[in-house]
Amino acid sequence: MGDVLSRPPLVRIHSQCLTGDVFGSLRCDCRQQLEMALSMIAKEGAGVLIYEQQEGRGIGLMAKLQAYELQDSGLDTVQANERLGFKADHREFVMPAEILKALGIGSVRLLSNNPDKVAALEGGGIRVTERVPCEVSPSAHAEEYLKTKKEKLGHLFTSR
Ligand SMILES: [Zn+2]
Repeated sequence: MGDVLSRPPLVRIHSQCLTGDVFGSLRCDCRQQLEMALSMIAKEGAGVLIYEQQEGRGIGLMAKLQAYELQDSGLDTVQANERLGFKADHREFVMPAEILKALGIGSVRLLSNNPDKVAALEGGGIRVTERVPCEVSPSAHAEEYLKTKKEKLGHLFTSR
């Protein structure tokens, strides 16, 4: 949206979450983050949203639903993925860097709580001039999930 070339634009890399984005699941904060990113970009009048097909931190929809079942029996999101034989986070962020380059964008202000995304973009040759927090007020159902994201996946939250 808008002029994304004259200064580093707001950029959000959103990983597809069918259950959250489409069905409004309260297990995660994906849809709230997507809406927040879109409204921040709209408010600024410029920015980029990259919607990546990486369901369930890269493990795919069916495996994610199996992980949900394991979570219902007491495992957290990281333990569940590992039980199924996956890494805690299976995503690669190579594609977004290439998409940004194709758009002629060399530096960005990244909307994210995930330091790995910052590192991955920089590794891909995109300069991240600023990390802009993308924190939502989650539903009570997502509290545990966000706690695990913070403690085991290194996500940065100011208030939690
Ligand atoms: Zn989600």
